[in-house]
Amino acid sequence: RAKDAGRNTFRFFSAAMQLAVESRAALEADLRLAIGSQQLALHYQVQVDDSQRPIGAEALLRWHHPSRGTVSPLQFIPIAEESSLILDIGNWVLDVACAQLARWQRMPAMRHLTLAVNVSARQFRQADFVDMLSAIIARHPCDVSRLKLELTESMVLSDVAEVVHKMDSLRALGLSLSMDDFGTGYSSLSYLKKLPLAQIKIDQSFVRDITTDATDAVMVKTIIDLARNFRLEVIAEGVETQEQLEFLRGHGCMIYQGYLFGKPVPLDEFESRCHAQGVPASLT
Ligand code: C2E
Ligand code: MG
Ligand code: MG
Ligand code: MG
Repeated sequence: RAKDAGRNTFRFFSAAMQLAVESRAALEADLRLAIGSQQLALHYQVQVDDSQRPIGAEALLRWHHPSRGTVSPLQFIPIAEESSLILDIGNWVLDVACAQLARWQRMPAMRHLTLAVNVSARQFRQADFVDMLSAIIARHPCDVSRLKLELTESMVLSDVAEVVHKMDSLRALGLSLSMDDFGTGYSSLSYLKKLPLAQIKIDQSFVRDITTDATDAVMVKTIIDLARNFRLEVIAEGVETQEQLEFLRGHGCMIYQGYLFGKPVPLDEFESRCHAQGVPASLT
């Protein structure tokens, strides 16, 4: 009987696995179609300074599927990463973002903003990534110093010297680099010293319980101190409450992103909010 049960269990799991494989394949096929058919869009989430005025935005990808509805990037980015789809998607994102940055620089209420774009590990590892980005920038002439690429710690795991070389080439284009989800990967002091970063982003998983979990509080304080000692800008993501903001501010964080200031929104909504909120005095 135990054997039968085992067999049934096996059958059950293999059916479930089959389904998972199929839906994954279906999602991948749909994603392939999405790229050319206006189902992908960038939303923009504001980043604010200490006076809570907008100083920048993070571009976040959205997939509006005709029948599935909105699919989360947490769902489709990993699938895209496993195929070469992430390269087409990533290029599309960079192209739209640079076009946007160029446009904003002609708009008085927007021209002070920086724009952060997420780059996936596979995209970053592409041999011609720097050339490709340089071609995009040439197509959309803009103040490249306002462009920020968000990288992840997983990119640094491989050959550090090679990664540093690529990061230097990217910086030579005029843009700046940020380390996303900082503290969730294999952060080490030795790589922080080597990488040409301008900013680190405190992951939202540490910010969430900052006021109730002593370990997270220490983690965040340590990251802020680290950033200060390495002369890096530090931004906290996932700030949802006034209490979290006060904690972060009290410990020397100076840039924030999170629902407290605004959720990621479509372009027109983002622009009208920026018009309403105005330009920080320090940036005029
Ligand atoms: P991420 O880069 O760490 O982006 C931050 C995520 O936190 C976003 O989720 C954002 O909507 C969410 N978030 C912001 N503020 C809050 C808050 O106060 N509370 C909570 N609970 N969440 C907040 P989203 O847009 O679902 O994106 C998820 C991840 O997907 C991103 O994490 C990023 O890793 C990836 N992703 C998004 N767009 C792109 C893209 O264009 N290219 C690549 N390669 N990855 C992307
Ligand atoms: Mg990000
Ligand atoms: Mg992040
Ligand atoms: Mg994150």
